[in-house]
Amino acid sequence: MSDAPLQPGLYIVATPIGNLGDITMRSADVLSRCDLVACEDTRVTGKLLKHLGLHKKMWRYDDHSDEAARERVIEAMRGQAVALVSDAGTPLISDPGYRLVRRAREEGLMVTSLPGACAAIMGLTLSGLPNDRFLFAGFLPVKEKARADMLAELAGVSATLIFYETPPRLLKALEAIGAALPGREVSVARELTKLHEECRTGEVGSLIDHYAAHPPKGEIVLLVAPPGEEAGEFDLDALLLAAMEHDKPSQAAAQVARATGADRKALYARAMELKAR
Ligand code: SAM
Repeated sequence: MSDAPLQPGLYIVATPIGNLGDITMRSADVLSRCDLVACEDTRVTGKLLKHLGLHKKMWRYDDHSDEAARERVIEAMRGQAVALVSDAGTPLISDPGYRLVRRAREEGLMVTSLPGACAAIMGLTLSGLPNDRFLFAGFLPVKEKARADMLAELAGVSATLIFYETPPRLLKALEAIGAALPGREVSVARELTKLHEECRTGEVGSLIDHYAAHPPKGEIVLLVAPPGEEAGEFDLDALLLAAMEHDKPSQAAAQVARATGADRKALYARAMELKAR
């Protein structure tokens, strides 16, 4: 660590996702030497700075901030070191910052990133699910149809899927995963780095039973194993009927074809038969 002033520009600084001990030495160093902290919530970041024994100028910034607010931060970067932090974890990962980083790069300003905690990556490492390929998809949509559509779109992807989820929506999300991605192993990683950290991996039905009996609290990462052995054992009728609750037979056939790799025309013919029953 040094007392030398930092080069002006943008420093994307990862912060802990629960356990304050997870701040890195570089993150703490940049926070202590920067001129300004751009953050989502000054109260949340104020607590972290206090824990580090720092008093810093803070500006509230998120991607919904208007253009004038964004340009003010950009102007500041021309002569000052600006640290961008979010409430927790790695900025930009389901958090603000993308527009600011784009603008800073367009202006040719110095941009660097200090890596650290990220719930998606920690969930992946803890889950025991295959990790050679993964796809982070952020939060699942809240509305049932949009959620089913997103899962159908992702069903054919040969990678572990990672989502962020909230406790009140966990059961609905698990049910939707059970319907759209049958037979897949699922993992619920909760309260990571905190006192009540847990990670349960198993068949979706057993997770639904568990969380129906023990309503979850705190923060959640939800992971779904890639398509595997079960791919040849899809109950195509069940998938078509589930999809036809929201969509026309042609759309249902297209969705199920994407999810399973089965022939779309044959699925459409079957969907029409099921509809006529
Ligand atoms: N930027 C953060 C990161 O790097 O992980 C994520 C921010 S996003 C707004 C917040 C969501 O991340 C939470 O709703 C939860 O799904 C997940 N999350 C954050 N901290 C977590 C933790 N300690 N345990 C489990 N999930 C967490």
